[in-house]
Amino acid sequence: MFKKIFRLLDDAFEEMIQIRRHLHQYPELSFQEKNTVKLIADYYRNLGVPVRMNVGGGGVVALIKGGRPGKRVALRADFDALPIQDEKNVPYKSKIPGVMHACGHDGHTALLLSLAKVLHIVRDELEGEYIMIHQHAEELAPGGAKAMIEDGCLEGVDAIFGTHLWITEPVGKILYKSGPVMASADHFKITVRGKGGHGAYPHSAIDPIVAASHLVIALQQIVSRRIDPLEQAVVTVGKFVADGVFNVIGEKAVLEGTVRTFNENIRTFIEKEIDKITKGMAEAFGCTIDYEYLRGYPAVINHPEETVFLAEIAKDIPGVTDVCETTPHMGGEDFSYYLQEVKGTFFFTGAMPEKQEYQVPHHHPKFDINEKAMLIAAKTLASAAIQYQHKEKREPVTP
Ligand code: MN
Repeated sequence: MFKKIFRLLDDAFEEMIQIRRHLHQYPELSFQEKNTVKLIADYYRNLGVPVRMNVGGGGVVALIKGGRPGKRVALRADFDALPIQDEKNVPYKSKIPGVMHACGHDGHTALLLSLAKVLHIVRDELEGEYIMIHQHAEELAPGGAKAMIEDGCLEGVDAIFGTHLWITEPVGKILYKSGPVMASADHFKITVRGKGGHGAYPHSAIDPIVAASHLVIALQQIVSRRIDPLEQAVVTVGKFVADGVFNVIGEKAVLEGTVRTFNENIRTFIEKEIDKITKGMAEAFGCTIDYEYLRGYPAVINHPEETVFLAEIAKDIPGVTDVCETTPHMGGEDFSYYLQEVKGTFFFTGAMPEKQEYQVPHHHPKFDINEKAMLIAAKTLASAAIQYQHKEKREPVTP
């Protein structure tokens, strides 16, 4: 069975590359992915697979029914691009100025489409049902996942699997992790209002820059002094903009930053601590401070059983040379919402390009994937989805 599926996937590899390169040339930003959606929906229509569009706004969901009843397993691929200028020198470079697939979501889409085609070909031999979730807007909060779930994309789903092509890891490597694997990603904004005045007469003004500077320093003690050192959290002030001229005290200063953590209690604790500190600063400096805390994606928490299962089946995938545990990432992902609803796991598929010039981080203007990784990811997802039908028959293994 898997021999046949893997061979069909090998045969589909050329097509996978074509689709990926087409998407790479015509990337679309989050919540604006019109042509990408059309390409995905048309692909399923041509196959004769039932497809639902506009799921949760801009998502696409397709259903492949096996010949026999069984579990319903969902596979997810995101498809949005980023506001970055493509600086690669390749024939499939982005044709859209200032927009590029700099996170590999084009590859995710291509590999899930070809995988769907293969599952459709062998459907009569399959048990269960396979939900292909093509998700819009992963890169921009509030993201597409939450809205797609509210619109029913996980209805009746027993488990979900998703992967991210990961270009800082070599091809052949699969990285898994039980529990927290990607952080919650929140955004805060603090507006400090003082009283403007002459730089030479500070006593008759209230200087928002001095108050905001103290605030930046005070925020550093949340992680260093208020949180258990064995937990992980980040509070970063990434923006500090103030009014004023060299000899003028301005009216206001604005700070913006991000909070990352893996623990929901710590997340709430930090939100409240920032509030407490801003109130204390306002009192101490005689200014008014407005504080906004905008929650982004929650942390991605993988289910242990499904993660162990994935790590186990990955070892048998042709092309996989190394299956190892990863450390958690401070980056965010809205795959978290799926895992709050159903069991599953999100793993990483090594996709490092061969050319050293393109061995850069994600979201870099020279980002590219090693396309061979798409085939490995497709085979791993296929194997996970199909073997999940009989997961309980697998030998239990300790992580
Ligand atoms: Mn991504």
